[in-house]
Amino acid sequence: MSKKSAPKKTSATKTPAKKTATQKTTVKKGTAAAGIKKSKLSTPNPPYFYFGGGKADGHAGMKDVLGGKGAGLAEMSKVGVPVPPGFTITTEVCTLFYENGMKIPDDIDNELSKAMGHIEKITGKKFGDPANPLLVSVRSGAKFSMPGMMDTVLNLGLNKETLEGFAKLSGDERFACDSYRRFVQMFGNVVLGIDKETFEEVIEAKKQARKIKHDSSLQVEDLNDIIKKYKHIIKKKTGEDFPDDPYQQLRMSRDAVFRSWNNPRAISYRKLNNIPGNLGTAVNVQAMVFGNMGNNSGTGVGFTRNPATGEKEFYGEYLLNAQGEDVVAGIRTPQPIKDLKNDMPVVFDQLRKITSQLEKHYRDVQDFEFTVENGKLYMLQTRTGKRTVQAALKIAVDMVKEKLITKEEALMRIEPSALDQLLHPRLDPAAKYEVIAKGLPASPGAASGVVYFTSEEAVEAATAGKGKKVILVRQETNPDDIEGMHASVGILTSRGGMTSHAAVVARGMGKCCVAGCEAARVRVDKKQLQIGKLIIKEGEVITLNGSTGEVIIGDVATIEPELSGEFAALMEWADEIRHLRVRTNADTPHDAIQARKYGAEGIGLCRTEHMFFSEERLPIVQEMILADSPEERMNALDKLLPFQKEDFKGIFEAMDGLPVTIRTLDPPLHEFLPEKGEIEKRIKELDKADEEYDEKLNRLKKTLLRIEELKEVNPMLGHRGCRLGVVYPEITEMQARAIIEAACEVNKAGKKAIPEIMIPLVGHVNELRNQREVVERIVNETKAKYNARKLTYSIGTMIEIPRAALTANEIATEAEFFSFGTNDLTQMSMGFSRDDAGKFLRYYVDKGILPKDPFISLDQEGVGQLVQMGTDRGRATKPDLKVGICGEHGGDPDSIAFCHKVGLNYVSCSPFRVPIARLAAAQATIMEKQKTSERDK
Ligand code: ADP
Ligand code: MG
Ligand code: MG
Repeated sequence: MSKKSAPKKTSATKTPAKKTATQKTTVKKGTAAAGIKKSKLSTPNPPYFYFGGGKADGHAGMKDVLGGKGAGLAEMSKVGVPVPPGFTITTEVCTLFYENGMKIPDDIDNELSKAMGHIEKITGKKFGDPANPLLVSVRSGAKFSMPGMMDTVLNLGLNKETLEGFAKLSGDERFACDSYRRFVQMFGNVVLGIDKETFEEVIEAKKQARKIKHDSSLQVEDLNDIIKKYKHIIKKKTGEDFPDDPYQQLRMSRDAVFRSWNNPRAISYRKLNNIPGNLGTAVNVQAMVFGNMGNNSGTGVGFTRNPATGEKEFYGEYLLNAQGEDVVAGIRTPQPIKDLKNDMPVVFDQLRKITSQLEKHYRDVQDFEFTVENGKLYMLQTRTGKRTVQAALKIAVDMVKEKLITKEEALMRIEPSALDQLLHPRLDPAAKYEVIAKGLPASPGAASGVVYFTSEEAVEAATAGKGKKVILVRQETNPDDIEGMHASVGILTSRGGMTSHAAVVARGMGKCCVAGCEAARVRVDKKQLQIGKLIIKEGEVITLNGSTGEVIIGDVATIEPELSGEFAALMEWADEIRHLRVRTNADTPHDAIQARKYGAEGIGLCRTEHMFFSEERLPIVQEMILADSPEERMNALDKLLPFQKEDFKGIFEAMDGLPVTIRTLDPPLHEFLPEKGEIEKRIKELDKADEEYDEKLNRLKKTLLRIEELKEVNPMLGHRGCRLGVVYPEITEMQARAIIEAACEVNKAGKKAIPEIMIPLVGHVNELRNQREVVERIVNETKAKYNARKLTYSIGTMIEIPRAALTANEIATEAEFFSFGTNDLTQMSMGFSRDDAGKFLRYYVDKGILPKDPFISLDQEGVGQLVQMGTDRGRATKPDLKVGICGEHGGDPDSIAFCHKVGLNYVSCSPFRVPIARLAAAQATIMEKQKTSERDK
């Protein structure tokens, strides 16, 4: 329920609640306060909600109005759980407080004593009565729990007179004085804003003077003296006496809670978490119960299941003879909750019963607080327990088995992107280590290894005989480094953002990567890495935590990922529900097998260019590029064919029975040639005495010339994609032949290959027609050669140029399938160069100009329109056109939901994101179902 839909009877609440920023200005005296007529600020509906004594006005569904804490207290009270009585002042009053110039409207304020009457009636005590004083706590509580909100004030209502009565009633003067001491301290700190330290210093001085170690050894006269000093400090710092009137104490605390809604920490937290600034906080006033009245009293916190593992076990801690925050404050070491069974057997059983009742009632793990006063148990808080991903999985699956929740609910309870944590090795939580620098958490997982500074050295160290675990350290990586990255267990770069080459490729490979670690000075020439004064030389060990961005010195133990029983179960349920298919982007049999293990239903993108970079093949590729005639080129291509064929056979075998989309060559050719400077260096180094000197020199000069020729001002918009195949049809021919021969041979061997040949970067239907002709010709030749009449294959295209989306109806005449290449489509639609945008996109997101990095999460309003249009127009021509997406967005949950909405057939993402995509696709289906059923109601 949103605040908008809450019943509103007054005109005051109808005025649109203002955003934080405007609130700040409206509260300036004399503006809003003067501008709004008194009558407008009449009572909201109603300002106080009561709970306690087995009844409540509110309930769990009212978090908007009562805040999380208030709604929890109301619900507990309603279902008969023992809760100290109290009331909640609603979030609407908070809004009024700001509209009324930081002051509670009089009519609401006047009802405060009536509200206290509710507590007085149930407890039989009276607020401010020296003979039988009622003490209360004042607790803040917004809809979402937030740091920065006002801390709780306990023992409110004490003054000289009530203290005496309180001491008499409790029969323990020391206890009473200590309660008063705590109250003055909390009030001074929390409400009056005086440093905690200031008060702690007074206690410290006293303990030193009295030569004692523990607070508990302070005697009545010590405490009285401390209180006197506290009050003195307060007078000095605020210019006013400490308030003795309980109602004044209460009003000041209440207003302080409302004020804390707009303190800087709360504001920045809301901004960070997209929490609207106009929700407001509620205030809870509640009768005190005392866990510090001796060893028959105590206080504790707990969870109904283990929040770290999800194990169904009672989990928590408690302290005997303690109040409030003592458990979490770490002054005394709390005891594990199972010991409570010995200390207070009756209370323990009751607590177990209540908390399991709460878990059943809320149908989720509860995080609770309780206090025992003289053997009587009170619950003080309950809320949904935060948990690790592992625990979330186990709990969700267990609860389905226990018939507490449905499969759909279980699926909705797991944050898809959180699964990432489970799919990579991680640091052993028990390990101790030293972090030496921090970069961006570019690709999750953790790995230890020896550092190497060039791709070649990394490969050498990692392979043959040596077989070391290598961490590749570079300033930044480029396509030349692919092999080195492949050979390494982790990648560290000192430059580049979350979408830098290193980050994207590492994520694709499922390797951990820390990128943009600016503190790291990478010196390839000296083969060393310098961080501050620390120098790490080639061959020394570091550890990367790609989930946090931490760079660690030395070796740290890691834990391997496993798809536990629960994980597998949840994935199965996701598969039952989802409509979207999930494929993977994989260029090697190894990745294909990995992805299949994670549930991939095919390959959506196999990039052939990655196959060209190996030591053996690159010279042949270069030969092909340097060729002077088609014959020479064919010659080189003939040499490449067997390699390509082997690659494809491996992938078809791995994906036996599942479709494999293979993209023909995409990048500009210059990417396969060395740098100009490198060639110039080699020319200089040539030995004139060498027999082959002239030959070598000519060749190098030719390379240099070719590099010059291939140089482009804007390679991303240059001679690449299908434009290569149009100019050099031999390349497409070779690739088509390799694909179809591989498919025929795999099929002959008894497996099933389903090749889908994909032409990249098409913008005009004629480009596709041209390439299609080439491919079809080769397919027919090859089919005849292998006598493979029944081979299933298809030809399609990437939609990654806006014009292709606009003319998708024409393009579909030549295509059996479309695959949206949303990386390029984003680049070309938004005019952001993918390789350069990192520099400014960060600022765009920081300043809120763009809600998210469009290369990470699809820009649905803009680029998304092209996806929608391309799909609709394509299917207008061919109703059964298969449509998918293969950009980085294929693994992003929000983008996946969008793909579901648009009606795509599948998404394709890197192997490690396959489970995430399966879950996100299921959630998209469930959310759609929920929306339709809501509409039907
Ligand atoms: P937080 O949101 O920081 O947990 P809480 O309002 O829950 O703040 O309270 C802080 C501590 O004070 C908790 O340990 C809580 O159990 C205790 N507490 C709050 N109200 C009372 C009360 N009426 N009687 C006894 N203890 C209380
Ligand atoms: Mg609490
Ligand atoms: Mg592309």
